[in-house]
Amino acid sequence: MVLGILLMVGLWIMQLRRTVHSRTRALREEVAQRQQREEALRESKAQYDNLVERIPVGVYLIRSKPDHSFGFDFASPKMADLFGVELDALRKDVQLGFKAVHPDDLDHFVKLNQDGLKFLVPFFWEGRVVVEGDVKWLHIASTPEPLADGDVLWHGVVVDITERKRSEEALRESEGRFRGLLQCVDSVAVQGYAPDGTIQYWNQASERLYGFTAQEAVGRNLLDLLIPPEMQEGVAEAMRTMWATGQAIPSSELSLLRKDGSRIQVYSSHAIVHIPGREPELFCIDVDLTERKRLEAQLQQTQKMQSLGSLAGGVAHDINNVLAAILGLASANLEIQPQGSPTYRAFETISKAAIRGGKTVKSLLSFARQSPAEDRVVDMNAILRDEVQLLERTTLSVVRLELDLQSDLHAMRGDVSALTHALMNLCVNAVDAMVEGGTLTLRTRNLDSAWIEIQVQDNGLGMPREVLNRALDPFFTTKDVGKGTGLGLSMVYSTVMAHHGDIEIQSDPGQGTCVSLRFPAILPADLPQAMDHEAAQEGARTKLRVLLVDDDELIRSSIGAVLAALGHEASTVPSGEEALERLQMGLEADVMILDMNMPGLGGAGTLAKLRTLRPSLPVLLATGRADQSAWDLAETYPKVSLLPKPFSMVELNNRLQLLNRN
Ligand code: ADP
Ligand code: MG
Repeated sequence: MVLGILLMVGLWIMQLRRTVHSRTRALREEVAQRQQREEALRESKAQYDNLVERIPVGVYLIRSKPDHSFGFDFASPKMADLFGVELDALRKDVQLGFKAVHPDDLDHFVKLNQDGLKFLVPFFWEGRVVVEGDVKWLHIASTPEPLADGDVLWHGVVVDITERKRSEEALRESEGRFRGLLQCVDSVAVQGYAPDGTIQYWNQASERLYGFTAQEAVGRNLLDLLIPPEMQEGVAEAMRTMWATGQAIPSSELSLLRKDGSRIQVYSSHAIVHIPGREPELFCIDVDLTERKRLEAQLQQTQKMQSLGSLAGGVAHDINNVLAAILGLASANLEIQPQGSPTYRAFETISKAAIRGGKTVKSLLSFARQSPAEDRVVDMNAILRDEVQLLERTTLSVVRLELDLQSDLHAMRGDVSALTHALMNLCVNAVDAMVEGGTLTLRTRNLDSAWIEIQVQDNGLGMPREVLNRALDPFFTTKDVGKGTGLGLSMVYSTVMAHHGDIEIQSDPGQGTCVSLRFPAILPADLPQAMDHEAAQEGARTKLRVLLVDDDELIRSSIGAVLAALGHEASTVPSGEEALERLQMGLEADVMILDMNMPGLGGAGTLAKLRTLRPSLPVLLATGRADQSAWDLAETYPKVSLLPKPFSMVELNNRLQLLNRN
């Protein structure tokens, strides 16, 4: 029995020990596991702390209470840098963060905070903070998490976006500069268009070119504003193609509408500009062609005049010889007839007719001439006063005359008769245009930079554009056959060009016409010298031995007679060769009158040989066309001057005296 009990106890103890043993093991395992878990947790916490400490953004948790008070549950160390405060201080007092916000951005920041707390909506803010005097840009984003106890936990990040803001600013600045440049360039009109043609951009040059202000243009459609009806379809099509292909259409010359309904010629280029993240924009760049077109037209006009001039010059040469003979003989006979007798009057009429013929030839010739036939000091006011006297005596009963002359008008150089003729033409046109009467105003004034301006203004019919464009053309006239020749304005044009001047015609139908001529002036300081030169041209009579060389028998006999009448001693020869021969044989002469156009040696050839034979014998080179070769000769050789045919007796005598005296 006792043994049985002992055995039982022994068994129980063994059982107990086994149980204890296994329990202990389980316990030990559990401890180990827990240690592992804690280890893992520690590791993860360390990782988390490390992350929070190292990432370049601030993270925080803010707990807000139902009464809207709030404070940090957590703020990462980076937060201290971002707001420029001590971390511990910041963690204790969330208001320190508020204090760093830039005063200009503070109101918005506070408002967003209040809204966030009130409506529990996510909070986003981009704004400035001031840290140790420097401005930094921060981006703050946080989202709310309502907790069971009624509090709200805000999970937030804070990022420094100063760099991004700076580059955005730089981009804006460079874009601003670019736009500013486009805005200011004054000869290049730039416009920006949306794909549907809506105007989005319009620089100042566009305002000037098209007449619409940016305010009027932006928002309206290109097609309605600038494109004339006949081009609408083409332009719309071109725009569609451009947008579809991304390829700009080639640059071209276009005639577009201005605000006042007039047309303007432009050279237009296009570009589609792609800026990443933006709608592409179509830019149009237009250059005003008005000035270039004007120069082209002027060049064309000059060329037209030149070809007409050389044609007229050829004819004029022969006519001049005829006229010279008539004038010579008539004026010589005038001298020997008793004044007032019928023959005297007949010769007088012949002289006048020949002179008038000569003037016509002269104006025909002035088409081709590069320089004026005469080069004298001219007082434009005096010419205009003479003109007025003439007009008063003749045409004007219905037209009122007004003179507006600058009293100290500068003189100019040139050809009095050509200038008189030109002004007469302008006056006649003006009178013709004032069929129902009106005022003809003649105006002179000194311009800056040593130019003078003469204006002939009427308030007559004016000219439509087509007429104005062609008015300067030779033979263009709108007048009835027999009334207009169409040569008036083209003559004016040639004269102005020959005087290195400038002509401008302003005219509108019903508004009258104003023609402005501008010429280089002689400034008062240079006037005495110019006058001296002139005075030298008048001279006393001396008997001269004249050698007259001309292949035309008519000229030889008539001019010979004139020379005799003037009291000179004339020897006449028909060719340059013969003249040289006579001189070689010992003929004495004070002056030679040498015809430019002769067979054989001709004027030029004779002159060349003459200069070796008689280097200082004065020569009058007689020519019907004062062309460049004649001018050249006169410049090449000493003591050679031009004698334009036909010439009157007095003129011839003056020239002879002057040349001999010099
Ligand atoms: P013409 O007078 O012989 O016709 P012009 O060369 O002088 O030739 O003028 C050419 C044209 O220019 C004239 O026919 C006329 O239509 C126009 N014109 C010229 N001057 C004026 C003016 N002052 N007012 C209106 N039209 C003018
Ligand atoms: Mg005319």
